[in-house]
Amino acid sequence: MKQKETFGTTNTYAYDLDIAVIGGGAAGLSAAIAAGRALPDGAKLAVLDAQPRCGRKLLATGNGRCNLTNRTAGPADYHTDDPRAVSRVFSGVNVDDTLAFFESLGLVWREEEEGRIYPACGQASAVLDLLRLELMRLGAAEVCGCRVERISPQEDGFVLRSPLGAIHTKQVIVACGGMAAPQLGGVNWGYDLLRPLGHTATKLCPSLSPLPVDSPHLGSLKGIRAHVKAAVGDSRGEIASDEGEVQFGDKALSGIVIFQLSSEAAGVTHGKDLCVTLDMLPERNQNGIVALLIKRRAILPHLTLENYLTGVFNKRVGMCLLKQAGLTPLSRSVSELSDGDIRRLAGIIKSWRFPVSGTAAWNSAQVTSGGVRLSEFDGMTMQSRLQPGLYAAGELLNADGRCGGFNLQWAWSSGILAGRSAAESHARSGR
Ligand SMILES: Cc1cc2nc3c(=O)[nH]c(=O)nc-3n(C[C@H](O)[C@H](O)[C@H](O)COP(=O)(O)OP(=O)(O)OC[C@H]3O[C@@H](n4cnc5c(N)ncnc54)[C@H](O)[C@@H]3O)c2cc1C
Repeated sequence: MKQKETFGTTNTYAYDLDIAVIGGGAAGLSAAIAAGRALPDGAKLAVLDAQPRCGRKLLATGNGRCNLTNRTAGPADYHTDDPRAVSRVFSGVNVDDTLAFFESLGLVWREEEEGRIYPACGQASAVLDLLRLELMRLGAAEVCGCRVERISPQEDGFVLRSPLGAIHTKQVIVACGGMAAPQLGGVNWGYDLLRPLGHTATKLCPSLSPLPVDSPHLGSLKGIRAHVKAAVGDSRGEIASDEGEVQFGDKALSGIVIFQLSSEAAGVTHGKDLCVTLDMLPERNQNGIVALLIKRRAILPHLTLENYLTGVFNKRVGMCLLKQAGLTPLSRSVSELSDGDIRRLAGIIKSWRFPVSGTAAWNSAQVTSGGVRLSEFDGMTMQSRLQPGLYAAGELLNADGRCGGFNLQWAWSSGILAGRSAAESHARSGR
């Protein structure tokens, strides 16, 4: 076990460390544990976090249940500038290795639909507790309220500038996360720390977020959920599509299916013509929908249009589809519908267009699309190619995936690898 007491303030430094981990989120905590397990007794290891407590974002994951990984997660699931580096990271620490890591902490997990893996107790707080208990067992220090403002390379390591004073460390792991969810501690500080050391970042965009759209119907649809096939595209064609539940919001479309599309569309200039299209009856083709509508006209001629689609869709959705097809007033009789009206309505049901009206907001995003270029790090170790002794992990780097445990998996894989590599390098070089 490492001795926390030996971290003591020297005349010059608030802490004098072997390894400092900047950021106590998923990536930083897992990096610190991997490092602590591989470091020799007496080594000095600390997690420095700007927040009053570590792991604030982790507590909010999976609606408080923490979707900690996905059985199917692999290198092909990530948007990145360096797919080979992602493959190397996964060859170092894959999903099975991650589950073994959590089992070694005492976590019992359960697999749910689509490969999503959660703690069996259903509590994100249990994941955080187990990580922090292991850090304590390893004798690592958790230093909160400590925002690192600058990393200055020295002959024998680095000096970190912080409100607690200068901190000396032989090696440093930067795991500052990204800009998503500022209300949960998302910041751009990690990019600012790495830029003076020569690192560069790609364009940063909010991802896994609701998409703001223009539609006269959203006010009356607010809160309604529907199973749809959704697509996002622009004048050049479709960018991505997915099937699942959409939720209509006040001025936005939301739900997991929209989050996934936002991930594919992130980085596409939110210009004039980005558009979400909803197929409201994905199980039927256009002809099938026309046949269904003709049959309903035959068996329900006594109804007004207001109830023509009741029983097919949520009633308010049905009325909006009729209005979108121009079939007003809804007080008209169903028997008055022409074949042309029916074909037009079927077209809207199959392809209901919602123009995207702006960029997604950081405070409703789950992850940052883009980040510090992964190509500037060695995927076998997470060590910087520009600055020996400097490592990085997690959302700060340019690798992001879809909903379902993929982003935490990236944080664990890159974090564990960075921690282990930094400790191995310490053992080899004494630095
Ligand atoms: C609401 C929500 C739900 C989510 N649910 C899931 C889910 O269920 N499954 C999934 O896979 N992903 C989920 N995600 C995404 C996932 O939480 C993140 O991708 C992941 O937490 C990133 O981990 P990280 O350690 O890189 O960054 P963070 O968890 O953001 O940790 C970074 C830490 O660094 C600290 N820090 C930053 N700068 C400094 C500095 N200069 N000095 C000191 N400390 C600093 C911050 O205070 C923070 O504690 C969700 C995200 C959100 C917002």
